[in-house]
Amino acid sequence: MDGAPIENGAVAVSGNRIVDVGRFDDIKTRNAGNTLDLGEQVLLPGLINAHCHLDYTCLRGKIPPQKSFTEWIRTINAEKATLAPKDYIASINEGFAEAKRFGTTTIANLTVFPELIPQIQPPVRTCWFSELIDIRTPERTNELVDRAIESLGRARPEPVLSEAKGGAQWGLAPHALFTASSNLFRWCENISRRDNILLTTHLAESREEMEMFRDASGPLYEFIKSIGRPMDDCGSKTPLELFLDLIGNGGSPNRPRAIEVNRPYLSWIVAHLNELTESDFELLKRSNSKFQVVHCPRSHNYFGHSPFAFDRLRSLGFNVCLGTDSLASNESLSLFAEMRAFQKETPSVSAEEIFQMVTVNPARALRYENALGQIRSGFGADLIAVPCSGSTNVFEQIIAFGGRVPWVMVSGKT
Ligand SMILES: [Zn+2]
Repeated sequence: MDGAPIENGAVAVSGNRIVDVGRFDDIKTRNAGNTLDLGEQVLLPGLINAHCHLDYTCLRGKIPPQKSFTEWIRTINAEKATLAPKDYIASINEGFAEAKRFGTTTIANLTVFPELIPQIQPPVRTCWFSELIDIRTPERTNELVDRAIESLGRARPEPVLSEAKGGAQWGLAPHALFTASSNLFRWCENISRRDNILLTTHLAESREEMEMFRDASGPLYEFIKSIGRPMDDCGSKTPLELFLDLIGNGGSPNRPRAIEVNRPYLSWIVAHLNELTESDFELLKRSNSKFQVVHCPRSHNYFGHSPFAFDRLRSLGFNVCLGTDSLASNESLSLFAEMRAFQKETPSVSAEEIFQMVTVNPARALRYENALGQIRSGFGADLIAVPCSGSTNVFEQIIAFGGRVPWVMVSGKT
């Protein structure tokens, strides 16, 4: 991802970093040490999953597609009611192991239980997001956020992660406009401005969400109203309009920690963005600040959402990444399968560009653009290898790869 593929290439790794990249003969001459010959394989940067919920790995296959998004929420809530903390820990651990088997070396993971994080040792780099919902307890929003921050702060320090240039270890995730109050969104936005943390949310995911906010009607509107949420923000604006109102003046900037780069990206990583009106696109066009966007192709297909407007968002300058979402709406945690699903829905996009959506793009969203997502000297040694004959387009071959990734290195360790 840092230039054309190198045939008969080699990478020198020292400790947790890549220290040299080039043709094998040159690398061998310049570097001492043991040699590992991976054979006829293509060496790639480890993949980065920009949106998932490992809490629900244990729900794989448990929730068949429902007749509406609202029904799905009811069904997952019923499933969740049967789970105890030990089930969630097992679920998260199982999810990490599966993601790594599929070549994912960094995960942006949303959890409802940040208090469980200290009991988990992720085998890959993890940016933990505490998913926040205050629909049933709007009077305790600040307490909810404080508790989440305390738990996130106790996450096992990951030495490599913290020493990487830039990079965020954790963030806050007000769940969605229909489950998180405006007070909660604003509070998270303030903390992000103060402490320079990442933020993520689900936005404009379903037709029902659009119906709820713009038209004050539909199944999601009725369901959320029945919980007791004040509905006075419904009936005029689209989800995107409401979100932009809430985050105020374009949102807090996505500042990398250790380096000064002037760029227009925000701290917000926005998942889905499936339902956008023409006026929403006008708003996005006029806005100078861009948030990061995550598209989850297979979860999108599961729900049957409106087509994802990749071309329009890309031409407006948005950084679009891929994610798996959870196994409550997907069948595996493979980003290779996500790339294939995306290629099927958007065949005009090159395989190389699709591969950027699981490497350089999410690295940028997570503030690791100077440390991850490329095989480059000085970057973290997160590498994977998949078989490659070299006979056709290498990126096409990469995307076509199915199954377990035979060789994975995270932070210099296999
Ligand atoms: Zn999600």
